[in-house]
Amino acid sequence: MTQTDLPAAFGFLASAHTGGGSIPAAVFATRGRHTRLSERLRTLSVDAVLVHPDAGPSGAHASDADTLVLFAGEIYNRDEIDDTLDSPANASDAERVSGLFEKYDLHAFRLINGRYAALLVTGTRVLAATDHAGSVPLYVRPDPGHVLAATEVKGLAAAGAAVRGAPVAGARRVRRTPGVHQVPAGAVLDIRVDTGEATVHRTWVPPVHRLLTGENEALNNVRAALERAVVRRLPDGGRPLVVLSGGIDSSAVAALSASVATAGMDTLSMGTDVADEFPQARVVAEHLASRHREFTVDTRDLLALLPHTVYAAESLDPAVIEYLLPLTALYRRIDGPPRRILTGYGADIPLGGMHREDRLPNLDTVVAFDMDTFDGLNEMSPVLSTVAGHWSTHPYWDREVLELLTVLEAGLKRRYGRDKWVLRAAMSDLLPAETVARPKLGVHEGSGTTASFSLLIRQAGAAEDDVAAVKARVVQELFDLTVVGGVDPDEVVIEEIIGKIVAEGRR
Ligand code: ATP
Ligand code: MG
Ligand code: MG
Ligand code: MG
Repeated sequence: MTQTDLPAAFGFLASAHTGGGSIPAAVFATRGRHTRLSERLRTLSVDAVLVHPDAGPSGAHASDADTLVLFAGEIYNRDEIDDTLDSPANASDAERVSGLFEKYDLHAFRLINGRYAALLVTGTRVLAATDHAGSVPLYVRPDPGHVLAATEVKGLAAAGAAVRGAPVAGARRVRRTPGVHQVPAGAVLDIRVDTGEATVHRTWVPPVHRLLTGENEALNNVRAALERAVVRRLPDGGRPLVVLSGGIDSSAVAALSASVATAGMDTLSMGTDVADEFPQARVVAEHLASRHREFTVDTRDLLALLPHTVYAAESLDPAVIEYLLPLTALYRRIDGPPRRILTGYGADIPLGGMHREDRLPNLDTVVAFDMDTFDGLNEMSPVLSTVAGHWSTHPYWDREVLELLTVLEAGLKRRYGRDKWVLRAAMSDLLPAETVARPKLGVHEGSGTTASFSLLIRQAGAAEDDVAAVKARVVQELFDLTVVGGVDPDEVVIEEIIGKIVAEGRR
């Protein structure tokens, strides 16, 4: 496959300043080439490092005398933007952002459906923007006269003391990194560089209303929206790679990919010595005639990747780390040239897939809560796979798909005793009946990850009742060590961390 199938950049670290300034050392978990960039605009100077695949990073930055754009990730509604802007046929995503900004100022970011983080330096302002889901995390440290921004917080943690460290209303502070804030999901932070004052503008909020729709209309809409989202994420002509469990979410993505990918498709499943979903995934792979591979990871090796998972996701949520650990192991095993990976990740959040009972009020309570609290978990972070040079993308969290799934009334999500009914019904002609009917099984369950992590903690002497609290402390400690403290995750021995925390708990 050609590298143009990948985004022009995976991430960046940048400094915008009024006077002289220096850029902190470029620390990324993301694997890629580093390109340095220094530009003196009319008012501000910018120093940056882009981390990118070999073919980048010219499409990841655009500038004129007074404005500079840095762009990590990709846009999915390019055609619509190009129509609006009369863009040249070969415009880059950074140029699209620049063109939209000229026309709409910061409202530009309300128009983009993408998986990205962007930094726009113009006049005396720095705009730091995330996509609707905050799926490419973005962090800023707005000191007066000197604004730092990065797609991984570890680069800012290493930057030395903040001058101001004042709070930014509406943005979350990051643990043990004074002055550093995470740009909220679906937001643009408008920062005055001279004072370091920052204002948050929301560009997307999860819808809270629900729509009463007939069965057929609902399933047709879901099918059409998901297909569009998949098509926009496929490589240009190359073979897509779908990480496949044989659950309905990833099987639907695989089926839609297979129906349009003319060059054929690859699928990949992971399992451990403890548990796997190999037979269920095989049924789908055979049905779709994909080139299918299975990786078995030893549980000890899997758990040894806990530090790497925290280091990549920069998340403090122990449940999220358990979901992401098996995927981290899987992505790291994909060798050969960098791939574009499609996942079925995230469908359960708007569809209430984790909710295993019939009562609709409870289901909608869960959906509303989860849609309200995903921000900052970094569950969709591309760094999980860019650590191995691969780009991942999640069709269910496409802006249009996510919006549509969220607003469907609860009775379309849970129906006839089935979870995610509308998705199953929408896909029934493209998948085997047993796949369509298969109940949800979380990636942390199907791989035995949750059970294995719990066992390791009990073996260290923790009581059953303390396991959840120990997990939370372990994740926090791994964050402090690797993300804040700069310790190489390869140097962290997970058994020692667990032993230390269990011993602390006894005192
Ligand atoms: P369901 O939620 O109904 O079980 P699913 O298995 O596709 O469907 P999740 O369990 O939520 O979805 O897992 C999230 C995503 O992670 C999957 O859609 C898939 O892309 C990926 N994934 C999960 N388990 C595996 C696995 N064993 N091998 C490869 N990829 C997996
Ligand atoms: Mg799922
Ligand atoms: Mg992911
Ligand atoms: Mg599953």
